[in-house]
Amino acid sequence: MSDTDRPWVIVVGAGPAGLLLSVMLAKLAGIKVQVLEANSKLDVSLRAAYYGPPAAVELRRAGLLDEIRREGFQPEIFCWRKLDGSYIAGLDYRKVADNPDRLFVLPLDQLGALLYRHASTTPGVEISFNHKVTEVGQDKDDAWVQVETSTGLHRLQAKYVVGCDGASSTVRRFISEDGGFPGFTWDNQIMTANVRLLRDPTPFICLNPDFRSWLTWEKILYPFDKFGYSDVQFIIHSEHWHLLARLSKNPNPDDDVWRIAYGEISGLTKEELLARQPEKFSVLLPGNPQPEDYKILSINPYKTHQRLVDSMRKGRLLLAADAAHLCPPFGGLGLTGGIVDVGGLYDCLAGIYHEKAEESILDLYSEVRRQKYIDHTDPMTKANLRRLTELDPDRALEDDKFLKLLDEIKNNNLEAQKEILMGDMKLYYDFTQHYKDKTPIVKRA
Ligand SMILES: Cc1cc2nc3c(=O)[nH]c(=O)nc-3n(C[C@H](O)[C@H](O)[C@H](O)COP(=O)(O)OP(=O)(O)OC[C@H]3O[C@@H](n4cnc5c(N)ncnc54)[C@H](O)[C@@H]3O)c2cc1C
Repeated sequence: MSDTDRPWVIVVGAGPAGLLLSVMLAKLAGIKVQVLEANSKLDVSLRAAYYGPPAAVELRRAGLLDEIRREGFQPEIFCWRKLDGSYIAGLDYRKVADNPDRLFVLPLDQLGALLYRHASTTPGVEISFNHKVTEVGQDKDDAWVQVETSTGLHRLQAKYVVGCDGASSTVRRFISEDGGFPGFTWDNQIMTANVRLLRDPTPFICLNPDFRSWLTWEKILYPFDKFGYSDVQFIIHSEHWHLLARLSKNPNPDDDVWRIAYGEISGLTKEELLARQPEKFSVLLPGNPQPEDYKILSINPYKTHQRLVDSMRKGRLLLAADAAHLCPPFGGLGLTGGIVDVGGLYDCLAGIYHEKAEESILDLYSEVRRQKYIDHTDPMTKANLRRLTELDPDRALEDDKFLKLLDEIKNNNLEAQKEILMGDMKLYYDFTQHYKDKTPIVKRA
């Protein structure tokens, strides 16, 4: 293969991070990219849905944000509650409704499909499914991967190889010193389910519109918001802690899908966890619903990890997103952090390609993105999980500084509220400030 036919970058993994990186490199900088995906199709398992402001910035740069906002929705109220549904404290995202970078929602299967549509139609991007990378290496001038395909083992070469191959990354094994992924795995398992209402609610008398104190003459469960649910609620409880979040907002609420993510005992098998699910739902959800009261669209157990790789660069080999760092899914920082990695890596690679930056900018990429995880993602996600699981809900406003602050500023300090609502912008970093030539990138013909 001649140098002009060869990709300049090989991206391992057609997850959201890999697809977005390929779109940005090819569309914005004219860089040829080959994406290698081990599976025969995109991974549609239920995971990310909520993305913070710095992800909006990068997706806008990629020219995708408007379409993503049209397919998804903007959530309004986030709050923390007790298991009986009573309200503790919250955040109102309508206060930043005019901010173009505000938080947005689109379930990962839809986001992945949208990114794939764009990546597969962007000139300069080639996506190869059933291409499992088994080895990665480099010399002075090039990086290479060994791929397993239906026709056997092949070696592919490019200037750089980027591992966007997720939590069990193969590329990471060739970057970190001992192949390790420093950090720890939390004891609890998390059961995550997407659910949809089954039937229209029958009429009921609601004495207290704020959640569960109502009088009904017939048990009904959904729609959640008829019971005073907000778009997102974190329920604080030592045993029955959970997150209940809206995944879609449709003209007909019967079509809406909700996400329930709840803590479960470690060590149980998937079958054991599934057997416990009906009892858990009846405790977690209002109306003590039985299985005939809801429809589970998908359900999966997850282990949660707090991990960060020692380095996101070794020569021509690079890492981004879950391949480099993991965090619990309470706070929407996992893929948000991954998308910000991708935007930063795009600037670094495009800068090198267009001779605006030295190769050493890739060391800075690794240093800055790791530090952002250490300073923001790691403490925020640990605190979010501990707030749910360890706090005494009856003393939450006294014992938890964050909830206390939300309560104090709720009526009088709009600026402080906006700062919290846009707080994840701390993850953002502009690598183009290190370009030696600051003129805009012009795609080569
Ligand atoms: C329950 C749950 C809820 C979450 N909610 C949120 C949320 O609301 N907001 C948020 O920001 N984040 C959230 N996250 C985190 C988010 O889902 C992940 O950060 C994100 O999916 C990671 O994307 P990725 O592209 O890095 O990796 P992945 O999505 O894992 O994609 C990696 C791809 O690489 C492929 N691959 C792997 N190995 C190889 C190989 N050797 N060769 C070729 N291909 C390979 C895989 O098949 C896969 O397609 C959540 C996670 C969980 C578990």
